[in-house]
Amino acid sequence: MNLFSLSNRRPRLKRAFLAVLAAGGLVLGTALPAQATYYSGGFGTGLLNINNYSYNTTYQPAMNLAVANWNATPTPADIQKIGGGNVVAAGANSASWYGYYTRYSTSFRIDLNATKISSSCSNASNCITAVLVHEFGHAFYNADQPPVCSSCSIMREDRDRNSTIMRSPRTYDINETNNYL
Ligand SMILES: [Zn+2]
Repeated sequence: MNLFSLSNRRPRLKRAFLAVLAAGGLVLGTALPAQATYYSGGFGTGLLNINNYSYNTTYQPAMNLAVANWNATPTPADIQKIGGGNVVAAGANSASWYGYYTRYSTSFRIDLNATKISSSCSNASNCITAVLVHEFGHAFYNADQPPVCSSCSIMREDRDRNSTIMRSPRTYDINETNNYL
């Protein structure tokens, strides 16, 4: 289903507005998932083969926990550190983001910003896990800022990245992922 198949001559904002209206209509009419939280840059499968990264004693277990927490969900999520072209990396960066997901034609890359995490997080360990679990969420078609409370989705920008509960996909995220995969 392509909600953006309306005429390209329409102004961008109007087209987006119509898409929202169309999504609302579909929810009412057929009980399909709310398309407002769908991110089109997902990877295509729950199986994510990533590089076998190796970092320090803060990053390594925190990153591994993000992998484990997704794999423990009742979804098709199956993240394996066995290579395969997809990259998960951490490094210093002057940008304002904590983490960044980039989709390429046949692969994806996730970067964690150690500079931002160090300067903005009170609990680095929880924050690293919260950021990485969020970025994997994009690979599973979850968009930023779903219309739920700040602690109700790992995809909320205003969630508390230092809290324990935000290290794992929430019920909302699990349901959305199962809608998309
Ligand atoms: Zn995001």
